[in-house]
Amino acid sequence: MFPAEFNYHKAGSVAEAIQLLEADPDAKLLAGGHSLIPLMKLRLARPSAVIDIGGVADLKGISVDDGVIRIGALTTHWEIASSQEVRDGNALMAEAAGGIGDAQVRNRGTIGGNIAHADPASDWTTVLTALEATIEVQGPGGSRAVAVGDFFEGAFETALASNEVVTAVRVPVLSRHDHGDGHDIGNVHGDLGEYAKMSHPASFYPVVGAAVVVSVQGGRCTGAKIALGGLVPSPVRAPSVEQALVGQELNAANISAAVDHLGDDLGGQLIGDIYASAEYRGRVAPVEVRHALLHAIGLGHH
Ligand code: FAD
Repeated sequence: MFPAEFNYHKAGSVAEAIQLLEADPDAKLLAGGHSLIPLMKLRLARPSAVIDIGGVADLKGISVDDGVIRIGALTTHWEIASSQEVRDGNALMAEAAGGIGDAQVRNRGTIGGNIAHADPASDWTTVLTALEATIEVQGPGGSRAVAVGDFFEGAFETALASNEVVTAVRVPVLSRHDHGDGHDIGNVHGDLGEYAKMSHPASFYPVVGAAVVVSVQGGRCTGAKIALGGLVPSPVRAPSVEQALVGQELNAANISAAVDHLGDDLGGQLIGDIYASAEYRGRVAPVEVRHALLHAIGLGHH
């Protein structure tokens, strides 16, 4: 199907993109186009104009400074997956990026477009929630930093105003970036991150995804951040599972016991769609959390 008629503008800078958004509140930014264009073709989106930000150099690139990785909004999934800085500093991010869609999607889709789209099951929404990322946003009044927990407001809803642009995402460098090894977890001191998902077999879009960051001192869990996507309209943390893990020795039995608390965090508000019912998603969720935790400590594999 063809999209409805629209105007096309090419923005040369973030400031110009903001001006164009202000001039036409029904316009939409265009980054990789891998979510917006299909929606326009299906006529589920009918923007009066698209503002192409693909040439704005300030929105591209990855830098590391003082324990923080900053990723420009226009950075593609492939650029994140193949970045040595990201692989060294936050292997969880690199791994998640490498599992998004297929090569075409990874080559065009951007991290900024992905989070602005705010699909409830998207890989980035879940991974960035576990990493407690910060989203940099720019609007007519200047820039602001939004904690990831405040950014996602529901399915396809964010804290972005209609005249604001996502400029970058900031995530922490994890203090240990390789996986724990089941045989020497007692020697691990640092943070272990992992992402596991059950994907749609054709698009690789997650049905349910689980991202974990576990802090370990001598084999014992000193902190845990666990996020799930695809279950409720926005990514959720699993505080009951996180609390049950802290203080425990990290082994398969203790991980299974902690994951049994997941039901306390999810409640009864799960979403279902044409791909998977709410009940099915609820059953897959603990499997993926356990999988991610076991893999993080070197006791599982994808
Ligand atoms: P666009 O489509 O250009 O824009 C999406 C929305 O974000 C639009 O509303 C646009 O106005 C807005 N926007 C874009 N950039 C900005 C910005 N900087 N600031 C403010 N608003 C902005 N995603 C996954 O997470 N996992 C998958 O496995 C996966 N598989 C896919 C498979 C297929 C076949 C397809 C087509 C898509 C898949 N996706 C998947 C989605 C993909 O990651 C998209 O690229 C992404 O969701 C949107 O990024 P984009 O750069 O293409 O954004």
